[in-house]
Amino acid sequence: MNPVIALVGRPNVGKSTLFNRLTRTRDALVADFPGLTRDRKYGSGQLGDKTYTVIDTGGISGDEQGIDAAMAEQSLTAIDEADIVLFMVDGRAGLMPADQAIANHLRVNQKKTWLVVNKTDGLEEHTAMADFWALGLGDPRPIAASHGRNVTTLIDEVLEPF
Ligand code: GDP
Ligand code: MG
Repeated sequence: MNPVIALVGRPNVGKSTLFNRLTRTRDALVADFPGLTRDRKYGSGQLGDKTYTVIDTGGISGDEQGIDAAMAEQSLTAIDEADIVLFMVDGRAGLMPADQAIANHLRVNQKKTWLVVNKTDGLEEHTAMADFWALGLGDPRPIAASHGRNVTTLIDEVLEPF
């Protein structure tokens, strides 16, 4: 079985952008407004001789109702299905209350979780990371999904045990 990587986080942090980069498709709709991905979306990616499955999710905002509740449910299912969780936050927006709510869930979930700070293009990495240590999920990892910054290095490390 290929390792399964789930991309979770608030809407608009760049999950679909990373999904597209990892799977080399433009399958996942990327938009300037949150909530476009309503179901889980599966793709596969390859790095060296390793093939992996990626799951894109709609996002968790922390105060879901209606359709948003269904999206959050999809995210929880994706976490259950995954071997590795990439918890994505937005380095430009900074730490948001919903990030904290998601982190609280992930900390009790026991899945191997990586804290990934996206949109660090044009930001000073050290400064951009500072807020996110407070989530208690270890070393925040800076990437820029739309530019590819640090993405291959991250995936290489994430797949190391597999
Ligand atoms: P999702 O809702 O988490 O799937 O987020 P999307 O992938 O749809 O991206 C939301 C917005 O953030 C889009 O306008 C993307 O172009 C933008 N975005 C994604 N990754 C980056 C990045 O690395 N840097 C910058 N500057 N913008 C990004
Ligand atoms: Mg999306």
